[in-house]
Amino acid sequence: MDKICVFCGVKPVKKNKEHVLPQWLLKMTGDPNRKVTFGFNYNSGKQIEFNWQSFTAPSCTDCNERYAKFEGKVKVIVEKLQNREEITGTEALLLLDWLDKVRIGLWINYYYLENNKSQINPRLCIDNRIGKKDRFLQIHFLESKTNSSGLNAFGVETFVFQFNPSCFALRINNVLLFNGSNDFLISKNCGFPYPDKIVSKENGTLELSDWRYDRKKYLEIDNLPLFKGVLTLMQPIQTEMQYESNYYNDSYLVLNCLDRDKRIGNLFRVYNSDIISIDKIEDKLEYESVTGKEITILWQMIAKVYYAQNVFLKRVETNNEIFAKAIKVNEKTIDFYESKNKNFA
Ligand SMILES: [Zn+2]
Repeated sequence: MDKICVFCGVKPVKKNKEHVLPQWLLKMTGDPNRKVTFGFNYNSGKQIEFNWQSFTAPSCTDCNERYAKFEGKVKVIVEKLQNREEITGTEALLLLDWLDKVRIGLWINYYYLENNKSQINPRLCIDNRIGKKDRFLQIHFLESKTNSSGLNAFGVETFVFQFNPSCFALRINNVLLFNGSNDFLISKNCGFPYPDKIVSKENGTLELSDWRYDRKKYLEIDNLPLFKGVLTLMQPIQTEMQYESNYYNDSYLVLNCLDRDKRIGNLFRVYNSDIISIDKIEDKLEYESVTGKEITILWQMIAKVYYAQNVFLKRVETNNEIFAKAIKVNEKTIDFYESKNKNFA
């Protein structure tokens, strides 16, 4: 396998190593020299463990330095979350960028670690995937009587994730970040134009058709009912959409875009019964209270990640039988967590 720079996607110049999970995050969640665990092997029921020192991906020295300042800013935001301090819309956007970075970084990590088990052609790198597609984030504060420290990434070890790194969850001590991004994933929810039909073509590109634009909002992402978090955000990003010159000056889209030229939508906030565009991006986002039956336990949340990956892969019509197999494997993992859930309850 030819190694590529995790950031720019070409052969690394002055090769360096990027810790996909940054050192500040490892320090924040325990001994940075510890082994880190990433999900369960559903066959053995054991956690998958790595020594974090070996959890690196190749990068150019310059690319690595380019992102150092960004990491510094995100650290402050993650510290706020740890203290349950409110963050602003602008900070939420940075956090979404960072989750794009971590998600794709982990995807590339697993590509190397498991010797490309899915036999894919890596076409993603961090530079070309930050803030390029629709995305969502749900923040959960985990209820724990003890102060539990630790770091886990859920869903990143699956076959489905290798085919389509659409969704994962990151647990940072008592905070869980449930994050996803994919083509037109939440455009429909936010009243933006969306294709009703997505077909995967043999060359790896997607064919989008049956466009709809009704300016309505929808609470559910496809067939994925969400749990309640303290904060649920969506951002439609249609940068790669070439079709819609008809809609370019549409008043709803002009009003609801941070950057209409680049087709970057506003940040939207999801409530129980409504989705609201956030107009004042510098304002703090108040956390919702999650109580009683609304509280989700960790196992349910993890099962939701695998479930969401399946839902998102099924959005795409394909003749590829491997996708169906990958979906089955995830279904087994969901069963595993649900049985664990029963034992837990
Ligand atoms: Zn590079």
